[in-house]
Amino acid sequence: MTDITPLHDFIRAMTRLAEDGATEARWLAEGGALLRRLVATDTWLPEACAEPGPRYRQYLLHCDPVERFSVVSFVWGPGQRTPVHNHTVWGLVGMLRGEEISTEMVAGTPMRPGQVDRLHQGEVVAVSADTYDIHVVENALPDRASISIHVYGGNIGAIARSVFDPGTGARTRFVSGYDNAAVPNLWDRSREMAAA
Ligand code: FE
Repeated sequence: MTDITPLHDFIRAMTRLAEDGATEARWLAEGGALLRRLVATDTWLPEACAEPGPRYRQYLLHCDPVERFSVVSFVWGPGQRTPVHNHTVWGLVGMLRGEEISTEMVAGTPMRPGQVDRLHQGEVVAVSADTYDIHVVENALPDRASISIHVYGGNIGAIARSVFDPGTGARTRFVSGYDNAAVPNLWDRSREMAAA
């Protein structure tokens, strides 16, 4: 049985950071600590946002009403990977289930791989213009799905970004959207209230 309370509490704490006018450095440090706590338990992600598909899936879990941040579950089937892409906003990635590999791609013809981060369950990394903004991400496990929770400094599915041809470095406009039409219900607190 999933209990969405940890996600509810995470979003509430992230909203308080937004209300506080957090700088990118604070989002990455304090938001990163909150995300580390969220991915430390794997009991809260609704089934509907954990299903793999024929390509990797990106399910919206929450978007701040004024688009200061968004929270997404990425579900990787075996062998699935993103195109080479950028973000344009800060991001935090926390590994909930399985493992993934993020490879920085450095501009050039062809593009060259740079820093490689292998993310294990419970770990959190940041993406930012200050570290690297262009990368490719893939499931590190050949035989099962992996799931990571991403937080971005905007409504990531609606931001005009770029995908890149790794052979030529050519850039194409990209708006990712989301794979779900409905977001999880964070607001049914009846069990908690009945128990109080
Ligand atoms: Fe990415």
